[in-house]
Amino acid sequence: MKVPLLDLRGQHLSLRAQLLGALEGVIDSQQFVLGPQVETLEQQVAKYSQTKFAVGCASGSDALLLALMTLDLKADDEVITTPFTFFATAGSIARLGARPRFVDIDPQTYNMDPSRVEAAITPRTRAIMAVHLYGQCADMDPILEISKRHELPLVEDAAQAIGAEDRGRRAGSMAHIGCFSFYPTKNLGGAGDGGMLVTSDTELARRLRGLRVHGGLTEYQHDEVGINSRLDAMQAAVLLVKLQHLEAWSEARRRKAEFYTELLREAGLEEKFVPPFVRPEARHIFHQYVIRIPRHRDEVMKHLSEHGVGSKIYYPIPLHQQKCFAYLGYEEGQFPEAERAALQTLALPCFPEITAEQQRYVVEALKSFGG
Ligand SMILES: *Cc1c(COP(=O)(O)O)cnc(C)c1O
Repeated sequence: MKVPLLDLRGQHLSLRAQLLGALEGVIDSQQFVLGPQVETLEQQVAKYSQTKFAVGCASGSDALLLALMTLDLKADDEVITTPFTFFATAGSIARLGARPRFVDIDPQTYNMDPSRVEAAITPRTRAIMAVHLYGQCADMDPILEISKRHELPLVEDAAQAIGAEDRGRRAGSMAHIGCFSFYPTKNLGGAGDGGMLVTSDTELARRLRGLRVHGGLTEYQHDEVGINSRLDAMQAAVLLVKLQHLEAWSEARRRKAEFYTELLREAGLEEKFVPPFVRPEARHIFHQYVIRIPRHRDEVMKHLSEHGVGSKIYYPIPLHQQKCFAYLGYEEGQFPEAERAALQTLALPCFPEITAEQQRYVVEALKSFGG
């Protein structure tokens, strides 16, 4: 048996006719960039995320960049974030000339540890960027409280968490701005790159709409310097079809994740392969099902691969140890939880269409690991 880390065939097979019809509609309309399909998607994503406005853009990375552009960061300004995330989180901060200021993660959820945020605030701090890793929201209440008390804008990198909740509030709706990615492997994935920002602030929404088209809402009139980062209609058409299924897919992911955890417990494997911790206040939408393997993680990965089971490390190198951030002056050992997570975590195949038989096979493969 083969169990790939992610297999979109099942999803695309059932939607194939609808997706092709939607793409035909875009071609016939000749409206390829922004336009009515993008506007409809923006309205639906805003509603889905419990926010007033949504602004489509070219990728999740650009959503982060545009969100930070509204802060007018200057050289040496600092943005507090986690070192255990996809590169774009910190990359967007550095790209604008500011400095990522990392705080270590909570070893159970792998999200930024809120109790460490306040100590990282300096006179140069301009914002906080929280990430909802693997589809589970960071513990937002303490972070929101710090953001309010210090008057620091808060951005949510919700690229992995569309539809996730913290105490009933949807990912993207809790901070000033939320950012989504529609990269094909994300829970709501397009047929290419795409991204979206959400906010309930009228003025921020207006500014973001300008920034994505070179800073000019009126043609050839530029109030500020923006970038070209627009969502195209092909992506919006595909995403509109898929959005109708997102709730069902997220529920399926949650069920599949629960089943893995049950199987691991039944097999008495939960210490060798520690299942993900789900905060009781969270609706985890399992963008990834990530286990912690305290010993021999890399050998386990190889063993799984030999048995036809795909797995992947998200992420093998914490961002403070990336070469491009050497100038920040961080040292090995400075964020021990992030470093440990990079050595011990592994994502198992978990997607809405995975079968119980495939999941049993994955756990059997883990069971047969001798190390
Ligand atoms: C995918 C992802 C991004 C970037 O999204 P793209 O659409 O690939 O640019 C940013 N942050 C996190 C946490 C992500 O997982």
